[in-house]
Amino acid sequence: MKRTDALTAAASYFDNGSFLADLRRRVALRTESDAGAATPALESYLREELIPSMTAIGFDCEVISNPVAGGGPFLIARRTEDEHLPTLLTYGHGDVVSGQDAHWREGLAPWTLTVEGDRWYGRGTADNKGQHSINLGALAAVIQTRNGRLGYNVTALIEMGEEAASPGLHAICAQERAKLHADLLIACDGPRVRARRPTLFLGSRGAVNFSLRLRSRPRGYHSGNWGGVLANPATVLSHAVASLVDARGRILVDALRPPPVSDAVRAALASIEIGGDVDDPALDAGWGEPGLNPAERLMAWNTIEVLALGAGSPQRPVNAIPGEAVAHCQLRFVVGTPWERLGEIVRAHLDAHGFPQVDIQITLTGAATRLDVENPWVGWAQGSIEHSTGQRPDLLPNLAGSLPNDVFADLLGLPTLWVPHSYPACAQHAPNEHLLASIAREGLQIMAGLYWDLGEPGHAPWQAGRTQDVL
Ligand SMILES: [Zn+2]
Repeated sequence: MKRTDALTAAASYFDNGSFLADLRRRVALRTESDAGAATPALESYLREELIPSMTAIGFDCEVISNPVAGGGPFLIARRTEDEHLPTLLTYGHGDVVSGQDAHWREGLAPWTLTVEGDRWYGRGTADNKGQHSINLGALAAVIQTRNGRLGYNVTALIEMGEEAASPGLHAICAQERAKLHADLLIACDGPRVRARRPTLFLGSRGAVNFSLRLRSRPRGYHSGNWGGVLANPATVLSHAVASLVDARGRILVDALRPPPVSDAVRAALASIEIGGDVDDPALDAGWGEPGLNPAERLMAWNTIEVLALGAGSPQRPVNAIPGEAVAHCQLRFVVGTPWERLGEIVRAHLDAHGFPQVDIQITLTGAATRLDVENPWVGWAQGSIEHSTGQRPDLLPNLAGSLPNDVFADLLGLPTLWVPHSYPACAQHAPNEHLLASIAREGLQIMAGLYWDLGEPGHAPWQAGRTQDVL
């Protein structure tokens, strides 16, 4: 009964075809959640796929309905060895974005797992069915190798609405706080920084989506008859947007700029290269905050993006001053940004710059989180992953993208470690989504190593990581 035996057992689950067979069935269930309705497939995924696999390794499983109408169900599965042992919480999501069936390359389809060399195509292979299947497979391998005992308890929370912005997730975590009580979160979602090296990330940037809208008149007016005497809402709105962010992507609203980048975050990001993989776009020199390197701009800074712009009819322009104009914008931000006050801050900024007539509507919000890079769990996890793979993982203080990690970090008060098993060019949320088989196999071993090390007496910093009970 050795660590290497657990890693070997996890790799065998891949090598003997069982992992592929499990993932193939899971991909075949059409668990789209982003159309705004909870279809029967969402609950089937839990009842037909996850519950049998988890019951087999000793979990007690409970499906909980979403308190938000139209939201998918949740699974809370608990494997308790002893109430006095510490508890690991894990998280995953079984829902996926729209299959976009018509747009996959010839020979591929979203609901049929297709293997082409190292690439396993299918909706959810990367986001997130493949990733939580890796975790379950690795956990089973460690339980088997340790003769049925991990040495700690495990609770799994699986949601079926992540791609619909996680309706009810906060409510469920507040309502079921006692069942979800834990000492540490280890979960897997999102991509590695680079395909060839493991990544450990500690939180995520947050996002606030907001729309700026200027309704000048109920309809357009002829530009020859009225141009020069009627204000053009598209022109005014363009200037309003330009007052928020300059022509090189630098944020011009002081209150929406983040606190200075700390030395510890700078040091963690020093070795992180952005882009350079085959399908990555070329980076634009001179774009973004001056004085920062690309990794700092992505992971340690804020950005305001214009996601969509509208006025008139761009497909078929006519000679008219449009009646209204809209800009759908987004702030991505790191911890320490007063995002809850974004509406008020942008309002004051637009008023001060002569745009009181532009309306602001907040359409989506998600908090930023970041476990302290000096937390003892961070070095522990880096060491475990290096032990399993021979490579020091890339360490990201937070993911550049967003995750609902605030429910774990803030609501449940847990140290949060994320170990992604995907890579940047996986086409997540697009046609031709795929998982790299080589990363899946390595991911099984990484997770088996982490699960093994958590149960080694005196090895894991359970005490140091134990936070005060949340009131
Ligand atoms: Zn996703």
